[in-house]
Amino acid sequence: MGFNIAIDGPAGAGKSTIAKMIAAKMGYIYVDTGAMYRAMALYLLREKAATEQIDGKCQEADITIAYENGEQVVYLNGENVNAYIRTEEVGRMASVSSPNPQVRKKLTQLQQKLAADTDVVMDGRDIGTCVLPDAQVKVYLTADSHERALRRYKELVEKGESCDLETIEKDIIERDRQDMTREISPLKQAEDAVLIDSSHMTVEEVANAVIALCQSGKQL
Ligand code: C5P
Repeated sequence: MGFNIAIDGPAGAGKSTIAKMIAAKMGYIYVDTGAMYRAMALYLLREKAATEQIDGKCQEADITIAYENGEQVVYLNGENVNAYIRTEEVGRMASVSSPNPQVRKKLTQLQQKLAADTDVVMDGRDIGTCVLPDAQVKVYLTADSHERALRRYKELVEKGESCDLETIEKDIIERDRQDMTREISPLKQAEDAVLIDSSHMTVEEVANAVIALCQSGKQL
């Protein structure tokens, strides 16, 4: 087993920003599991799959990841779908389709295979609890919902997408509710995870805190 760092937490807590920084500093591979759930959601949206069709339809989606110029690229049935998975619509659908046991089984297996003999920083909702229960470092990264909405809002504005802060906050709260209350692999802090609340921390402060955990090689 490689050295595995698991970062879980609610939407917009800064998991991917932090995970990318840690991966770059430590020379590890960054695995964004949300992108895989998003690619699956994109497939289901394109297929106009109703909830009761997800079991069957998800088997038709072949999801793989590759690294091109240091970036994770998600392939859906051979197509690079990175440009299509970051929308709010796909995020909402990911939250609706991710409770499906077949979807989770398929993507969890892929994630475990990726981490088996590689040093990885993996972020998501159930990494410390289900995907990599033996990860050497586990972090539960959160921030209050208004702060998280504000960050998402700034990100979208920077990309030139029109959006509304209040709607984003409502969406985030609803997505967290769905992720935290689902039956299989709900979002929750693993017993042995370190809680970091980034509401009043800079990105560098959070990254340094995680690196300190990695260097000590054990939980604080
Ligand atoms: O992190 P991101 O916003 O890209 O994740 C999109 C959705 O995918 C989440 O709201 C969640 O429902 C689902 N997800 C999950 N398990 C993971 C990662 C993401 O259920 N490990």
